[in-house]
Amino acid sequence: MPTILNPATEEPLADLESAGVEETDAAIAAAKRAFSSWRIVAPADRARLLRRLATLVEEHAEELARIESRNVGKPISGARGEVAMVAQVFHFYAGAVDKHHGATIPVAGGEALTFHEPLGVVGLIVPWNFPLNIASWKLGPALACGNTVVLKPAELTPLSALRLAELALDAGIPEGVVNVVVGAGSVVGQRLVEHPDVAKIGFTGSTEVGRQVMAGAAATVKRVTLELGGKSANVVFADADLERAAAAAPYAVFDNAGQDCCARSRILVQRSVYDEFLDSLVTATANVKVGDPALDDTEMGPLVSAAHRETVAGFVEGEPRFRGEVPDGPGFWFPCTLVEAGNDDRIAREEVFGPIATVIPFEDEAHAVRLANETPYGLSGSIWTRDGARALRVVRAVEAGVLSVNSNSSVRVSTPFGGFKQSGFGRELGLEALAGYSEVKSVFLSTEA
Ligand code: NAD
Repeated sequence: MPTILNPATEEPLADLESAGVEETDAAIAAAKRAFSSWRIVAPADRARLLRRLATLVEEHAEELARIESRNVGKPISGARGEVAMVAQVFHFYAGAVDKHHGATIPVAGGEALTFHEPLGVVGLIVPWNFPLNIASWKLGPALACGNTVVLKPAELTPLSALRLAELALDAGIPEGVVNVVVGAGSVVGQRLVEHPDVAKIGFTGSTEVGRQVMAGAAATVKRVTLELGGKSANVVFADADLERAAAAAPYAVFDNAGQDCCARSRILVQRSVYDEFLDSLVTATANVKVGDPALDDTEMGPLVSAAHRETVAGFVEGEPRFRGEVPDGPGFWFPCTLVEAGNDDRIAREEVFGPIATVIPFEDEAHAVRLANETPYGLSGSIWTRDGARALRVVRAVEAGVLSVNSNSSVRVSTPFGGFKQSGFGRELGLEALAGYSEVKSVFLSTEA
């Protein structure tokens, strides 16, 4: 494993040994052993353990937020919000344990019953941008349904997952139920995908690796859910509250330094207000506070690594419309950048995963919808308009899993989250996530005398 660095200072945080196939197999075996007793824990007891974990996350919130902020380089205010959500996720799924039950179905000659059975050992593979948050979105429903898990954090950001595994034990969740294996995607991740004792892979990451996961899972007909990349549109109509839309738009891209699958990195603006909106957008972007992630009022930190900064920088050709300031000295900084481009240009087609927004004009509603949908991705997006009927028409027409009207917001604990098209399939969060971590069994009981 490479030394774990603080991306804001380039100081080392930890040196961890990388697990190999043997350690991964041992974790899978531990999860398999634990499954037989975990699956029959009484629902109220399983709920109590999840609730206890939620409470421990709340009690250790500042510690977890600091770990996440230092390891990812994300502003502490954002990290605090993410940790608060992790606790909410465990509370939510604690409450769902005894509500995810089957049905009785009247049929000829008897009665039919359905049961929601756990899958067994599930492999959870997560990225580096929201390490703990995304892990919780999978752990919550997986554990609530009675599965045991092997969680593989991203190579660059394993620290919060390791701490969470300790808290799970402190909460009383039995040994072997939550296992964390730190190592390379091509070794640990691939082994989880291929291992016959792993029943399902819950994956969040790039579309490219998602394809490999899906192909690898085919050999054992593993269940897969894939939360992949995005290239979402922020559609601003002339009849919108332009001031509000322009003030919000930077945060739909520059939050988490653009390392956000939901980043609305294509800002589509109706031509009649394009110049006016762009001026306000530049002013709002210039006001984004970039700097030390440990400070309470910092809004954007550095990128996660030097290599990632190089990739992001490779997207900018020529002089951008706006380039912000970054701190001097060490750290993988990249400025907030606004680029005017066409929807077919590489910068508007590929996921940059950095603080670059592309601004693109459109003529009318039909044109806006066409541009929004001209992408292989379909994760997220926003529509800004004061016309309620238009808002409804456009949200129905845009091919994406998570949309918001007059807001940047994508994620809520109780609402389903996931992609259309090459942004993946399956849903996390909400009660919908439970379907991805259970199997429906149908049983017929004859009532013949
Ligand atoms: P990545 O695909 O490179 O890695 C994701 C995880 O997969 C890591 O843990 C990695 O070690 C592992 N991995 C790599 N190769 C593997 C293999 N062959 N088999 C199994 N596992 C393997 O993604 P990343 O760079 O960590 O994260 C950024 C990407 O994640 C972006 O594309 C972003 O859009 C996406 N993302 C999606 C969502 C969503 O919910 N849709 C959320 C966050 C991030």
